[in-house]
Amino acid sequence: MSQQAIPAMTASGQPVLILREGTSQSRGREAQRNNITAAKLVAEVLKTSLGPRGMDKMLVDSLGDVTITNDGATILKEIDIQHPAAKMMVEISKTTDNEVGDGTTSAVILAGSLLENAEKLIVKDVHPTIIVDGYRKASNEALKAIRKVAIKVSPTDRVWLTRVAKTALSTKLVAKHADTLAEMVVDACLQVAEKPIGSNDYSLDIDDIKVEKKPGGSLTDTSVRHGIVIDKEIVHGAMPTKVTNAKIALIASPLEIEKTEFDAKLNISDPSQIKAFLDQENQMLKTMSDKIKKSGANVVLAQKGIDDVVQHYLAKENITAVRRIRQSDADKIAKATGAKIITNVNELRSSDLGSAGLVEQREIENDKWVFVEKCAKAKSVSLLIRGGTQRIVDEAARSVNDALMVVKDVMEYPFVVAGGGAPEALISNHLRTWSNKLSGRIQLAVQQYSDAIEKISLALAENAGLDHIDAQVELRAKHGKGNTWTGININSGKVDDMEKVGVFEPLAVKEQIITSSTEATSMILRIDDVIAGVKANPGPQAGGGMGPGGMPGGMPPGGMPPGMDM
Ligand code: ADP
Ligand code: MG
Repeated sequence: MSQQAIPAMTASGQPVLILREGTSQSRGREAQRNNITAAKLVAEVLKTSLGPRGMDKMLVDSLGDVTITNDGATILKEIDIQHPAAKMMVEISKTTDNEVGDGTTSAVILAGSLLENAEKLIVKDVHPTIIVDGYRKASNEALKAIRKVAIKVSPTDRVWLTRVAKTALSTKLVAKHADTLAEMVVDACLQVAEKPIGSNDYSLDIDDIKVEKKPGGSLTDTSVRHGIVIDKEIVHGAMPTKVTNAKIALIASPLEIEKTEFDAKLNISDPSQIKAFLDQENQMLKTMSDKIKKSGANVVLAQKGIDDVVQHYLAKENITAVRRIRQSDADKIAKATGAKIITNVNELRSSDLGSAGLVEQREIENDKWVFVEKCAKAKSVSLLIRGGTQRIVDEAARSVNDALMVVKDVMEYPFVVAGGGAPEALISNHLRTWSNKLSGRIQLAVQQYSDAIEKISLALAENAGLDHIDAQVELRAKHGKGNTWTGININSGKVDDMEKVGVFEPLAVKEQIITSSTEATSMILRIDDVIAGVKANPGPQAGGGMGPGGMPGGMPPGGMPPGMDM
């Protein structure tokens, strides 16, 4: 049981209170069990969403907004998790998402089963540090085994890249359109990938690809556009809608006269004063337009508003302008065209301008959008995602993001493995054999690792409706005979050679799944003392609110915090 404070006595029998009243502490087995249970629960939530036959989750936030997804990282990001160990599981999915962009569900499931199996050993009195040690050895061996069989590919080979993109997309809501979307994703990546001078390796900055969403039409209307798409229209009807050899001024400040924060009163005694006042305002606005004109710009992209008067003068000078563009767009335009983002229009110089071969307004559905193309500096492309509803385009954009990332993974580290749980089954098989070379308790830990990683293949089988035991027996038998890529063929619902089926994934993703889940598991296993209620933030104003137990944020006594009983 958790205690209210650490009971300690001085030599004279005086109790010593180390922790403030109201602090809860759980130690040893108790602490470990709580942590493991919490982490396992998180893995359990994700288990059913693994693979092409995985289910989606509908997440409803406190305002009633709905997100539908099966992306591990997104699910965990949206759930308000409070338990500290469960939060570490969220970290695993975040790290995996940031590093390689895919495999987030697998990483959490693996961590969950590593912890579950560790618990079996803890009960048998194997010390956690030995388990941690065994797990580390097992993960190193797993990496060796998988690297040995990985297939080396050419980093710009369209066929391989498309296969990998397709696998990532086929587990998502957009699976039906995986083929066409995969092609577009690869197009976009090949467009922006670069080989830095003096390097043999490609590098790809995902930020060079802008994923733009627009509900309406269907997913098949999704397209790749060269250049940057701004979902805003040109502000004034008299401005040119097509500018070749664009000189772009990128302005962060408003092209307006800023209103004072407080009410100002103007005492005017003579009508001519009104005119003088208005003239002066007009003059200030005209000056803005003049400065822009003087810099040589023929396109103004403003992050804030543009006053009607400024619009008028700009239009007169044949300068085209767009207002209220997003910060993220401004950053991309700055990178692609070489424009400097200016905060004071009076300081705009010609050297601050960016250049693009073409800036043009075009109609998308019923909206007018501005395209910045043939950029001078970086190559950049936009993926314009279309789809029936906002939720569909949102989930499609997340899926496309995964696909972009796996293509990047392969371009930067050109090795792939077959999917469908084949690599996991291979590793599991290898570790089981390898563990025979070890002795003592370490061996037990490695065997548990082997069982844990097999759970990924089995979860895929289960989600595909295969019998768990049959699948396990067949996987083990085939891998025992050295059939490297035996995995779960979701389409036929059979155990199959996944290389022949043509499902491939980046080696980078598999490596990341192994390292991030092993690291997090080790960290959780090393904890033998959870002290909750330490110097909490002062509650409601910190945004955390009070839990039902009246404790701000932290873990209530007894272990499981509210919200974990999912
Ligand atoms: P993660 O977040 O871990 O990427 P996914 O839901 O995307 O989770 O599922 C990934 C798993 O699905 C991988 O093991 C992958 O090999 C497998 N997979 C993807 N497509 C297929 C397929 N067509 N047949 C069998 N397995 C597949
Ligand atoms: Mg995936």
